[in-house]
Amino acid sequence: METDVAGVRQAVSTGRLPAWDRVEALVAAAYGRYRGHGAGAVADYIPVLAEADPGLFGVVVAEVAGDMHAAGAADVEFTIQSISKAFVYALVCDQLGHDVVRDRVGVDNTGLPFDSVIAMELNDGHPMNPMVNAGALATTALMPAASPDERWERIRSGLSRFAGRPLDIDTTVFRSESATNHRNRALAQLLESYGRIDIDPLRVVDVYTRQCALRVSARDIAVMGATLADGGVNPVTGERVVTPAVCRDTLSVLAATGMYERSGEWLFEIGLPAKSGVSGGIVAVAPGKGAIGTFSPPLDSAGNSVRGQRAVAYLSRTLGLNVFASEVHPPTVPPTTQRSGTA
Ligand code: GLN
Repeated sequence: METDVAGVRQAVSTGRLPAWDRVEALVAAAYGRYRGHGAGAVADYIPVLAEADPGLFGVVVAEVAGDMHAAGAADVEFTIQSISKAFVYALVCDQLGHDVVRDRVGVDNTGLPFDSVIAMELNDGHPMNPMVNAGALATTALMPAASPDERWERIRSGLSRFAGRPLDIDTTVFRSESATNHRNRALAQLLESYGRIDIDPLRVVDVYTRQCALRVSARDIAVMGATLADGGVNPVTGERVVTPAVCRDTLSVLAATGMYERSGEWLFEIGLPAKSGVSGGIVAVAPGKGAIGTFSPPLDSAGNSVRGQRAVAYLSRTLGLNVFASEVHPPTVPPTTQRSGTA
């Protein structure tokens, strides 16, 4: 697409998805190939998440034109968890701009687990990475609002605009996490001690825990991702949610940090900006084309859904989504097969 910016003709070129029938067949094939795959373990550090059905598996592709392709448990709801970090980051960047958020929260991978305290200590109290808990807490605290209730409402309504429907909180998961999130409270208080949070840190944890407990489906996260792929316009509702510049910034942060400490391996093998969450969701975004949303609760040792990673790897290759590839490439091995542990 070519546009005039300040008198200079500028262009972005992303290519196209294959024809509708082909995408439809490949989504069904991704589901069929991996639904019997049994590796990984359901997260249990938030007690109620341990009750998730490990057999659930859904795969969805949302195109920037608004077309949808779904297989399996595409409409089963789960809590968004860490995937919220990507969209709250986009909303806060939209409000405050590129520089403020970059300076306050950072854009780099810590190389350490998502709930690491030592990562902050090693970086003089700088959270470094908006896609792990410390940086996400700092980002949530930046959402402009006169009160915690208003901050929560702005986040809930913003994420709902990304999804194209009103999202509700799962109160059981919220209460279960609130009763056990001592580590996040410690992270928020440490952020306050380093001057990275200016408001009551425990109120920030409360809003963050709520945002993580919003209920979504694989279809919802595919639409949310497709909004980032579509320059900030929700392809189903037609509503502009954030600017094109915010989408570019958010996707570059996801490429570097979205799959926790495995982000480099993920980019190397699969070549797409993505974000995962501990209840088993993954959203992967193909700029200008669309997004993949997957849901399957069993995780690997970094907290990334095992079936989801395989389905996205397959679709990235067969739909031609790898942002670094210019010719057909041989199959790659998803990162999950390279480590032995399970979460
Ligand atoms: N709410 C979870 C937490 O803060 C989110 C973590 C995740 O999805 N990795 O621990």
